[in-house]
Amino acid sequence: APAFYAPVTLEAFARLRDEHPQARLVAGSTDVGLWVTKQFRELGDMLYIGNVRELKSIERDAQTLTIGAAVTLEDAYAALAADYPELAELWTRFASLPIRNAGTLGGNVANGSPIGDSMPALLALGAEVVLRQGTRTR
Ligand SMILES: Cc1cc2nc3c(=O)[nH]c(=O)nc-3n(C[C@H](O)[C@H](O)[C@H](O)COP(=O)(O)OP(=O)(O)OC[C@H]3O[C@@H](n4cnc5c(N)ncnc54)[C@H](O)[C@@H]3O)c2cc1C
Repeated sequence: APAFYAPVTLEAFARLRDEHPQARLVAGSTDVGLWVTKQFRELGDMLYIGNVRELKSIERDAQTLTIGAAVTLEDAYAALAADYPELAELWTRFASLPIRNAGTLGGNVANGSPIGDSMPALLALGAEVVLRQGTRTR
């Protein structure tokens, strides 16, 4: 039977990812859920990111706004719009509040959708993505 892993620390998440490289990462499941309800796909093992404390935080210093991969779209947008008020209107057009409260900015980047709405704004801002595998980060 498929397994559902829901680690609560970044270390445990990274270790489970190494141990189960085939597992499907699941964040807000607003994309992944549709593969099941619309396409009847089997997801197999799942690795849920939404309980990982370190990835749910938003940090700010003088130069950088850092948004964790498990931060909801709603919270991520609020943080971005605080620095870039001109983005506010874009976010009002992004899905509905329930989707924005469940979906993550990380999921919107990772799904690689050609119609994803956050990437154009993130590209324009010169955003950088921090990737981690095991103990390595780039
Ligand atoms: C009704 C509805 C309306 C929508 N409207 C919009 C819209 O207006 N604009 C728009 O752009 N999108 C829209 N979407 C799509 C979706 O909500 C977004 O793409 C959302 O950001 C996906 O995030 P998620 O956390 O739900 O991702 P999930 O569904 O959990 O995952 C999406 C993909 O990303 C991978 N993934 C997730 N997190 C990570 C991570 N941290 N590292 C590596 N891989 C990861 C997953 O394995 C999966 O392949 C809509 C969806 C629905 C159902």
